[in-house]
Amino acid sequence: MPTYSVVTFGCQMNMHDSERMAEVLSAAGYVPESNPEAADVVLLNTCSVREKAEQKLRSEVGRLGVLKRKRPELVIGVAGCVAQQEGERLIKSLPQIDLVIGPDNIPELPSLLASAQTGAPPQVRTVFDYDAPQFLGATVAPTRSPSAGAAVNPCAYVTTMKGCDERCTFCIVPFTRGSERYRPSREVIDEITRLVDGGVREVTLLGQTVDSYRDPSAQLPAAKAAGDGIRRWGRRSASPEDETEFPALLRAIVAAVPGLRRLRYTSPHPRHLTPALVAAHEDLDVLCKHVHMPVQSGSDVVLKRMGRRYTRGEYLERLGMLREAVPGLTLSTDIIVGFPGETNEQFEETLSLVREVGFVGLFAFKYSPRPYTPALNLEDDVPESEKSRRLTELLALSELIRSNHLASLVGQECTVLVEGKSKSGAYTGRTERNEIVHFGCSDDPTGEVLPLRIERALRHSLVGHLLDESRAMDFEVARARVGASSCETLETETSAAPLVLPAPQRLSRHSLPVVAGWAVKPRVERKALPRGWQCTTGALKPRDAARLRHP
Ligand code: SAM
Repeated sequence: MPTYSVVTFGCQMNMHDSERMAEVLSAAGYVPESNPEAADVVLLNTCSVREKAEQKLRSEVGRLGVLKRKRPELVIGVAGCVAQQEGERLIKSLPQIDLVIGPDNIPELPSLLASAQTGAPPQVRTVFDYDAPQFLGATVAPTRSPSAGAAVNPCAYVTTMKGCDERCTFCIVPFTRGSERYRPSREVIDEITRLVDGGVREVTLLGQTVDSYRDPSAQLPAAKAAGDGIRRWGRRSASPEDETEFPALLRAIVAAVPGLRRLRYTSPHPRHLTPALVAAHEDLDVLCKHVHMPVQSGSDVVLKRMGRRYTRGEYLERLGMLREAVPGLTLSTDIIVGFPGETNEQFEETLSLVREVGFVGLFAFKYSPRPYTPALNLEDDVPESEKSRRLTELLALSELIRSNHLASLVGQECTVLVEGKSKSGAYTGRTERNEIVHFGCSDDPTGEVLPLRIERALRHSLVGHLLDESRAMDFEVARARVGASSCETLETETSAAPLVLPAPQRLSRHSLPVVAGWAVKPRVERKALPRGWQCTTGALKPRDAARLRHP
């Protein structure tokens, strides 16, 4: 039987597509091979949202090309956004490639590969399925590993829509994924029911603008309109075109699948955070107390140039209503730094927005000009060094907010959905607010929702102790059992003492921003630390934070 390996670059959507590719190939008799160098077919599933991922593809194809010279029968396929964006051009610039396949053509993989394996000329199949949109769902409950008997992963992603009708000026997605197509609500509910019957406890709904959902089968009852709290919706109510059927979909899922313990969604657009969506959060306990809401910038001028269709004030107002409806809710976001024309003052507005909201998680990116996007007409005038400096400063602030947040949870009780065991010997679970908690347990609790007390804060996660003493095991004992002498697989630990949010100070000649003893370093060497400062963690790595101590 021919073997295959799928290598994924990029976002959650790509990981989900890769799983579907694996299922389509396994159903056609291909056997998974974890080492791409040993596989008969290697599929590179790509992302083109930023230029870096595209560069990664080119170097990966180069590497596989060397292998192909020794094994000419090796089939190299490129899938995903770069495939859709470049099509024919990829084959011309990288002749090692045998197949280029777009995200909507995954079901055709077996027939295309069959002809590639008979030595057919390179093929390109990148056609959007506008006439009859297809949504590949999981055929089986997802397992932790393909080996037989592996535990069911209690968390799964379910696609509800694809494509994007927003026209953010920086974004290539409308070009690589086409315009919006929605999956019939019945199909969504059926897939979730199947997954829950197979042991899944938490589902994350997936879409490029997941909250713009409209049911093509018109089977959803009208969503409950605004509740009492929503009547207090601020100075500008959501415009009718911002209202969608997404809140109705959430309600329908919760009503139809009582075994579902947790429901999340990603990535929404702030425009559709409307009264009906806030009301759904208020009413549905299954909806988790964490929302990822991409903001991109804190400056109205930049937001306008980005084509985001909301102002800073509207974004804050909407989040305010959501927070009022869901006490304890945590928020995370996406931010682009160094967008064309972004001044330092405008970047400072982003920092002030991040402080004001207190995002506990943040994905930050340096602006990367993308083909076919309207922002290409704007001059990419923020120097690379300045983009790096802004990114570093933003990440330092985010790190500090997260540490404060995690430290504030020590001593509190919370419940986690247990996702499995880590190599450290401890089990790992997630709270409703999306914090990761490590804890010891005498038996395997994967898939259970368990109460525990938070004992310690690490840099990005927490250590807890189960409230049920008959099953609780000390975290250190659990680690010692598997011989985890140090925090091999866990992050570097930090004190749980809350830090105060001071203004960032710049201390080093390598523009190392240090905030309350934390430094985030773009390729900072030990010797670059200001005189008298020491690094108390191990090696300094790019885009990672090191705890610094002043003697
Ligand atoms: N639904 C999201 C939204 O509301 O914007 C879009 C998700 S996008 C696929 C993932 C993230 O990549 C964006 O939120 C944005 O921060 C980042 N991104 C997209 N285009 C970019 C570009 N040209 N340069 C840098 N970052 C970019």
